[in-house]
Amino acid sequence: MAIVFRNGNVIIGNGKVIEKGTVSVDGENIFFVGPARRVQTSKKDRVFDISGKTLLPGLIDAHVHLCVDGSADPITSLLKDSIPVLTLKAANHARRTLEAGVTTVRDMGGRDYVDLAIRDGIESGILQGPRMLCSGKLVCMTGGHGWQFGREANGMDEVRAAVREQLRAGADLIKLMATGGVMTKGVEPGTTQFTLEELIAGVEEARKAGRRTATHAQGTEGIKNALWAGINSIEHGFFLDDEAIELILETKAFVVPTLCAPYYIIKAGVRRGVPAFAVEKSKAVMKSHWESVKKARKAGVPVAMGTDAGTPFNCHGENLKEMELLVRVGFTPMEAIVATTKTASEVLGLEKKIGTLEKGKLADLVIIDGNPLENIGILQYKEKIMAIMKEGRFYKCGL
Ligand SMILES: [Zn+2]
Repeated sequence: MAIVFRNGNVIIGNGKVIEKGTVSVDGENIFFVGPARRVQTSKKDRVFDISGKTLLPGLIDAHVHLCVDGSADPITSLLKDSIPVLTLKAANHARRTLEAGVTTVRDMGGRDYVDLAIRDGIESGILQGPRMLCSGKLVCMTGGHGWQFGREANGMDEVRAAVREQLRAGADLIKLMATGGVMTKGVEPGTTQFTLEELIAGVEEARKAGRRTATHAQGTEGIKNALWAGINSIEHGFFLDDEAIELILETKAFVVPTLCAPYYIIKAGVRRGVPAFAVEKSKAVMKSHWESVKKARKAGVPVAMGTDAGTPFNCHGENLKEMELLVRVGFTPMEAIVATTKTASEVLGLEKKIGTLEKGKLADLVIIDGNPLENIGILQYKEKIMAIMKEGRFYKCGL
């Protein structure tokens, strides 16, 4: 028995659209994608007419923190919560993320490996949530950005040991902190943290194990250090200059801007309880951040959608706001969709399995009432999401 969706506006994820297209799903996989007239159905098939609706690949958020709760001062609650409470919260965040149409996430730093437990719980069917790739504990210098819940390490040998610990715990990728950041008191986003040598050691350890690396990198010098070390993705990238952009292109790295993070911090402000240091730092970087993303797009840098969900008022389940912000920065709606599907799958190294609608790939789909190419914002309306499927299984079906 196949599940067949016909007469829909089918967005492939690679920039192409099939109007009045058909997608059929057999078991976990996509079996057919093409024009409606070519498909034959049998009596046993479940056939849905999706005229007037748009079918997209399952959406991907390349930067979330499921352990972090999106409260006004989330690092304080992250540190204060007991492990059982934290685990319950993270499980709830995972379910909400899936309900938004996000079928895959990359978790960029949890506490005490709760992220890995959530990932395994979802995989084994105990929990409902998106497919997860997890970094385990972020690796940072002593007192560096994220030190309160990360693994502090200094010098090449210790960085190697820290990375090996994450691999032993079961991390899918390694996150290394190249610069300061917004959410840690007393560190500046523009300053470098790990040295080039430390970054090289960390990247090498990850690579030996066949894992990818990502770096929290906001200042220009730290961004370049990470690229010279061979990092796979630059997270945030607040201050990209021409040389950094050239290096990104040369090393085939990606940028994950996380526009939502400073956006929500500034929008809520101290008035709603966000720590003053975070508001001030966000205000100081926002203009340059948006300019950097514009510059990267113009230069043809692969930009993937990532929200940094979990930071103040950047709530799990509201992930697709980032697509609207990408459009505000100058992306076309189609480019924002490609950033959230194909490009995001490439950042995760999962492009053979997900990211575009193609025969043989996993059947991760979202069906929305309307056309996000005309209004990217409709993706944020849960009532307009008619169906969510992950690996051939419906998590929502209002068709
Ligand atoms: Zn983050």
